[in-house]
Amino acid sequence: MIAKVLPDISLDREFDYLVPPELLDRVKPGCRVSVGFGKTQRSGWVVALSDTSEWPAEKLKPLTTCTEQYLPETLLKLAEWISEYYCASRTSSLRTFLPAPVRAEGAAPKVQRVLRLAPEIHPADLIAEIQEKHPQQAAIIRELQLRHEATAAALARAAKCSAGPVNTMLEKKYLVAVEVEVERDPFSGERLVPTQPLTLTDEQKLALDITLAEMASPEPLPVLCYGITGCGKTEVYLQAIAACLEQGKQAIVLVPEISLTPQTVQRFRARFGDKVSVLHSRLSDGERFDQWMKIHRGQVQIAVGARSALFSPFRNLGLIVVDEEHEPSYKQGEAPRYHARDVAVMRGRFDKCAVLLGTATPSFESFANARRGKYRLATISKRADNAALPQMKLIDMRLEAATQGQPQIFSKPLVDAIYQNLNEKMQTILFLNRRGFATQLQCTVCGFVAECPACSLKLTYHREKCTLACHLCGEVQRAPDKCPKCSDPAIRYSGLGTEKIESLVQKIAPTARIVRMDSDTMTGKDSHKKTLDAFQAHEYDILIGTQMIAKGLHFPKVTLVGVVFADMSLNIPDFRAAERTFQLLVQVSGRSGRGSDAGRVLVQSYTPFHHALQASMTADYDNFYNEEIAGREALSFPPFAQMAIVHFRGPDAQALQDCASRFHELVAPHLAEGDRLMPALPSPLARAKNLFRFQVSIFTPRMLRTGRILRAALTRCGLPKDCDAYIDIDAQSLS
Ligand code: ADP
Ligand code: ZN
Repeated sequence: MIAKVLPDISLDREFDYLVPPELLDRVKPGCRVSVGFGKTQRSGWVVALSDTSEWPAEKLKPLTTCTEQYLPETLLKLAEWISEYYCASRTSSLRTFLPAPVRAEGAAPKVQRVLRLAPEIHPADLIAEIQEKHPQQAAIIRELQLRHEATAAALARAAKCSAGPVNTMLEKKYLVAVEVEVERDPFSGERLVPTQPLTLTDEQKLALDITLAEMASPEPLPVLCYGITGCGKTEVYLQAIAACLEQGKQAIVLVPEISLTPQTVQRFRARFGDKVSVLHSRLSDGERFDQWMKIHRGQVQIAVGARSALFSPFRNLGLIVVDEEHEPSYKQGEAPRYHARDVAVMRGRFDKCAVLLGTATPSFESFANARRGKYRLATISKRADNAALPQMKLIDMRLEAATQGQPQIFSKPLVDAIYQNLNEKMQTILFLNRRGFATQLQCTVCGFVAECPACSLKLTYHREKCTLACHLCGEVQRAPDKCPKCSDPAIRYSGLGTEKIESLVQKIAPTARIVRMDSDTMTGKDSHKKTLDAFQAHEYDILIGTQMIAKGLHFPKVTLVGVVFADMSLNIPDFRAAERTFQLLVQVSGRSGRGSDAGRVLVQSYTPFHHALQASMTADYDNFYNEEIAGREALSFPPFAQMAIVHFRGPDAQALQDCASRFHELVAPHLAEGDRLMPALPSPLARAKNLFRFQVSIFTPRMLRTGRILRAALTRCGLPKDCDAYIDIDAQSLS
């Protein structure tokens, strides 16, 4: 038998290997194998088996080792699809399917040597016999009656003795040593109060029924569950999963990495206990290996995780839930540049399972699909516990500036509301989507602005560390006390960041207990969980944060959410800016008033007339969609066409631009009706990490076909030395 093997190297080509007789019944497509490649030994994937090869048998080498079948056939097919659609190598796709600790050479579960009583020993008799002379040995036997097995060290500790008595008992064959696997458990014994299914509201019930109907269908359609924040979507997920488990099937729950908080995971574990595994980037390698193995071995039925949990090797998948389906972070930033929501829909097709997309603010792509009948729509318009939606108010900061004589960071209504909440012993969340203290440093005499030497970006001032930092490449400089150019001390820091908000709030409310969550403060492994737990326990009055706190959190005592500067995300030059702003505002406001007390949300803006802000006040998605979609249609932007961006990066701007232009010329003759090709242009972020950036964008109604054209042109455009290029299909960001 011949195995077609894709070695785990950048070549991205299959090679034939002989399957040695002793491995005949083990080698299957989806196994990871070790093969001789040139003079080295390489890992690779078996992608197919065959009885023929175009090579004579004596030229073929045998493969040497083989794992269990890690990837079922449907996942192999999915990897093919991802490679083709997202213009990525098959190797890169398959790599994302197996976490690095599982791929690693010699990866193995952690084993530990433990001691047990020898089977022929009768413990009570033995204790009676040795109690007088060897009380420590008797104590060890008693311990093993309680615990069945323990490490030598633990036994010595329990019997308050040295290793001596334990060794003696091994020699006398009272005890036997065995190697057992120990799980590196990310929950490490964390106990949760189990929850019971709630009685669903009519709308929740309908959403569940639609999902169950699709689960039973031979050709299930994805379900878009569009339900306002706090309407109980999670309860619908939980009950759909329960139904799935009852049918002996498995389920995957995807949440955006940023909202993959301990709170989220706990809700699933509290309902399903040990049936749940988690996969996310904060696990240690050992934990990740063990979590994945439990899925592979069928020891768990539910995988909760960020993007990559989608590739959990379940063999009988019944349901994939994609929570917050509109989240742009579902798009992976490196090859393969896949969109986890869209791949979930594809996996649903291959595995013939239901796919449930949940959100309070559907992406335009998904909502359009629902309107076109490609997805089924389930709407939940009321909060489950009949809690009122928070009261929303837009604050016109232009008026504030006029009445107070100069632009303000906090309006009077917001300050008053913060005081009121402190008095009433309720909690407050202040949201600003930018970390740091000030956005930029500018000299008021010569106009100098501090920029990153490697990127076309302004440096951000961080007061705590007294540094200027580039948020793209990590460049850090000491903050100067006079202008580096003209030496005048008149430097000014302008703009806003969470750090500045924190210091301002400290000034206006010196007794308030304040905590800040952004990627500057959340650096430790557990800092996220610790801060959230402390806030939950009301150890803090005010939580200040970036988008890290916008989603998924559930704090009943939060009755005020303040959005400090809503215009920040509106001003980004991207046709999705309004959509993103609407989503963000609805998500953050959903953090307010989730308990028994009514909540309110104050949104500060200099453009309060903008329809995205206006619509977010009433969380009126339909209205917003209808207004915004007309503009998209007129310009044939997504969801009326798909968009791909081809990025070029390199050290020589001219050579790079020439190459991007050649690429453009190669693509142009192959365009079909409805395709629109943009000229080669410098990227909005024109320079990053010392490399220039150019891009060519294309809009098309047929992405699979267009992707092939782009791929072919890219191989022929003659990339200059030290340059690289990549294709971003269904790009979520224009830079
Ligand atoms: P979402 O995920 O849609 O934002 P959640 O699932 O967090 O909403 O639900 C918000 C609150 O409503 C939670 O406290 C949840 O326990 C409660 N809840 C959900 N469904 C019901 C129900 N059918 N009856 C009573 N309470 C419910
Ligand atoms: Zn930089």
